[in-house]
Amino acid sequence: MNTYSSANDLYDPMTGLKDRTAFILDTERYAAKGIHAHIILVQLSQLLRINRKYGVLVCDKLIIHIAQYLQSLDANYEAYRIANSRLVLMGPECSQETADAITMRIKDRFDHAWSISHNEYVYGISTKAYFIHLFLGLEDTESDLMDKMNHAISVFPQRSTDGIIFYDKEIDSDMQHLKYVMEELRYAIDHETFQMYYQPIYDCHEKKFTTAESLIRLSGRDGTFISPGEFIPMAEDTGLIDSISWIVLGKVCQFLGTHPDLPLKTISVNMTGQQILDPNFIHRIDESLRDHHISGSRLRIEITERTIIEDFSEVKRVMEHLASKGIHFYLDDFGTGYSNLSRMFSLPFEVIKFDQSLMKTINDTNKALKTIGLLADIMHENEYSIVAEGIETENQAKTVNQCRLDRIQGYYFSKPLPEDELLRFLEEKNISEI
Ligand code: C2E
Ligand code: MG
Ligand code: MG
Repeated sequence: MNTYSSANDLYDPMTGLKDRTAFILDTERYAAKGIHAHIILVQLSQLLRINRKYGVLVCDKLIIHIAQYLQSLDANYEAYRIANSRLVLMGPECSQETADAITMRIKDRFDHAWSISHNEYVYGISTKAYFIHLFLGLEDTESDLMDKMNHAISVFPQRSTDGIIFYDKEIDSDMQHLKYVMEELRYAIDHETFQMYYQPIYDCHEKKFTTAESLIRLSGRDGTFISPGEFIPMAEDTGLIDSISWIVLGKVCQFLGTHPDLPLKTISVNMTGQQILDPNFIHRIDESLRDHHISGSRLRIEITERTIIEDFSEVKRVMEHLASKGIHFYLDDFGTGYSNLSRMFSLPFEVIKFDQSLMKTINDTNKALKTIGLLADIMHENEYSIVAEGIETENQAKTVNQCRLDRIQGYYFSKPLPEDELLRFLEEKNISEI
């Protein structure tokens, strides 16, 4: 329940615009009258750069200038500053054409520089913004509105073609789906309801399956399958990946512990560079190994270059320390656009996994085939083993073999399997010629 009786006292001191509380009170007023108000969010996106380049005072003046522009734009609309870099315009319900037109007018204004005077100088400052507009839902709470705005901003680069997003049904169902995935993810973490699947990996030298990769599976409480390609990036963004990875590690160690005769040398687990930096990393791994009475030599850790770029030197230092304690690492998804060979060679990887996108090129041209062969030679000279990922056909498998890659992972041999099916698979198919 709001304690303010009137929105009129609630102003942002810097711009003089109404503030976030006033904005919410005004949306409640519109909703009470059954009006789907038109709301335009102007999210300023370069204030940090402007602060650094021109100084705080000029940046403040720029915000004030933009605020005044918005306030004077249309007599039907009221401007608000609801956060440091968030300005909002709200006006009465209108047609889609009118809503589009006024939003476009604001966007067009941002294509020109703002003229700001400070200390006898006049600066022409260009700044970018995200423009998001929507019609107020009569049931929308403050948190609904903020969720909608945040979601639109997060998908802005992919979704906006003309520099504007209109928050329509499609984007709303997108957001509802993401919310659903987040809820199911949290539930699965709290109740440890993830399942582990294992994809056997064929060794071209030993001509049998000697290793496997553990891959997490999540089903919503309604039975819907949620792909790791969807929830893992969300878990990485929200920090939930940490809890997930420790659950995964526990499950994989438990599986290895309950099947001491499993005819696999190692199972690999996917982790992120950030986790390796956790000071407790090695203790937590030791704890899991001890709890399930297994040796660390049965475990491998896969990390993608994507997750180590940010803290490269720190990750390198910690990886070297962990490698000296016997922890072995695989570089996952090599060839997905991040790879920097000289940096990669400076890290203690045992295995390089060529991503399926790279492997798919072998169908295209002879040149691609030659390139993969050459890459393989360089890797071997540097004593790395190579796993080819995503091999789906016999032809691809034969070509991989010709390119002197060491191991093959892909649907051609097997999809990822639940524990009991993996055991059956290894029993029935563990000797195989390509
Ligand atoms: P990844 O680590 O590169 O795993 C390989 C992915 O390729 C798996 O997708 C696997 O099912 C798929 N795959 C294997 N062979 C083929 C093939 O022949 N054709 C095609 N089209 N795909 C193939 P999945 O299980 O959907 O996982 C996707 C990504 O999610 C993984 O890529 C990994 O980055 C992440 N992930 C999966 N499980 C975990 C986990 O337990 N922890 C973490 N941190 N990430 C995980
Ligand atoms: Mg992997
Ligand atoms: Mg991979």
